Amino acid sequence: MDVIRDFDPWHDPLCTCPKKYGFNPYTGCSYRCVYCYVTSYVPRAFECRIKKNLLKRVKRNLKRVDKCRVISMSNSSDPYPPMESKFKLTRGCLELFLREGCQVQVITKSDLVIRDIDLLSKMRCVVSFTITTLKRNLSRKLEPRAPPPERRLEAIKKLSSTGVPVSLRLDPIIPGLNDTEIKQIVKAAATTGAKHVTSSTFKPRPDSWHRVRQVFPRATAKLAPLYFERGERHHNSWYLPRKLRLELMGPVKKACDENGLTFASCREGLRELTTGTSCDGSHLISKKSSS
Ligand code: SF4
Repeated sequence: MDVIRDFDPWHDPLCTCPKKYGFNPYTGCSYRCVYCYVTSYVPRAFECRIKKNLLKRVKRNLKRVDKCRVISMSNSSDPYPPMESKFKLTRGCLELFLREGCQVQVITKSDLVIRDIDLLSKMRCVVSFTITTLKRNLSRKLEPRAPPPERRLEAIKKLSSTGVPVSLRLDPIIPGLNDTEIKQIVKAAATTGAKHVTSSTFKPRPDSWHRVRQVFPRATAKLAPLYFERGERHHNSWYLPRKLRLELMGPVKKACDENGLTFASCREGLRELTTGTSCDGSHLISKKSSS
């Protein structure tokens, strides 16, 4: 079975991503973020497993991959789970991508990515770090097994100081939990070297809503009418009312403008706020071929 596939198999009309591939070196993810949406379509989503014969399958897929398209690694699991220290599967894939001159976007919450700076600094790539809060306590509740935010910022600093372009994913923003930190998070990312921000509001599905409600009963009691009475249903997700989404994304754009970063929202239908050439930060990938 193919492991490098077209991104966005559902053709969501709100997706503004350039045509790209999606690739997950692992199945499932052990970071257990309460807001994670992949639990709605990946069985045993919080159990991270290796894929059999992964490198062989990647090699086979690379024969037909269009090198003009970015390989996004990864959207349904973190490519740097703790077991990557032992198995080095992501590293093995990066070696193959480098050899083949592929363009790669690495999306992670883990500072383990800096282990691979030797490869990333030679590749056409961008690393996108997700940071949803700078508060350790809140981070522990939102993303129980992921590395703390200060380690992610340290990793952004190391990557950008070696010339690897970095973007920030400030998502999801959950009103009442992390919407008061927008300015500080954008500033911290800009100070450490990020050049673009992609942001979005929390769009719960039944399972992610259930988890968030268990951990944050007070905040979700206030949010419930906003989503389920005044909000909108899109695909299998609930959206906040458009006006409120605009009120949440506007300050992110403003903070980006103030700090010299480009900005785009993700699947919000708010293209008018976009200042980046791409929504996902892939415009930061160098146009030059890999050395
Ligand atoms: S790191 Fe990403 S894929 Fe993993 S649990 Fe968190 S949101 Fe889900």
